[in-house]
Amino acid sequence: MIEVFKGISTHPVRGASGTVATGYTIGNFAVDAPEGVNYPGSPLILLTHAHCDHICGLSLHNHPYACSEFTAKAITEVREEATLCTHLGFQIPRRPPQQILKDGQILQGDGFTIEVISTPGHCEGALCFYVPELKALFTGDTVFGGRALPSVSLPTSDPQALINSYEKLSAYETEKIYPGHGIPFSAKGYIRDLLSTLNEFI
Ligand SMILES: [Zn+2]
Repeated sequence: MIEVFKGISTHPVRGASGTVATGYTIGNFAVDAPEGVNYPGSPLILLTHAHCDHICGLSLHNHPYACSEFTAKAITEVREEATLCTHLGFQIPRRPPQQILKDGQILQGDGFTIEVISTPGHCEGALCFYVPELKALFTGDTVFGGRALPSVSLPTSDPQALINSYEKLSAYETEKIYPGHGIPFSAKGYIRDLLSTLNEFI
């Protein structure tokens, strides 16, 4: 049975904001590259989005990574409005991805699969990753715990796109959400509830 592990912190976090993201491993993949987190072996790191607290660990190790086209451009062209590196106090990693991920793409693991889901809203180019064998959804900052809504007032945020993304995600049978900050939580009906909250809020 495939298992998900939380990334282990091996370095102190240097970001001026003290913002700490969470990384995970599943088989030979990892989700996000927060500073301070290294992964055993050489997993392919799947980036949920371009914000620097989720990508800056790439400058501490040489693990290959994959991301959306927008995130790739944000990193390689050092776009501050998309990465928030200066704002968050991190250094931008200056290496290109091994692979560009597209909506609907299926990645094959050893005994499991990962579906790439395009979920803009919190920021442009955001992705979620769904593992049907575990009914698990890795969300980055698209979904937070505690019924909290992600920020939609950042330079590449789009509230209407977030509503559309939640509509899309609510069609997936999800039992557990692995958020980009904090700890995983049970997720039955969570995205639907979030959608109602967001519709009232906007
Ligand atoms: Zn973010």
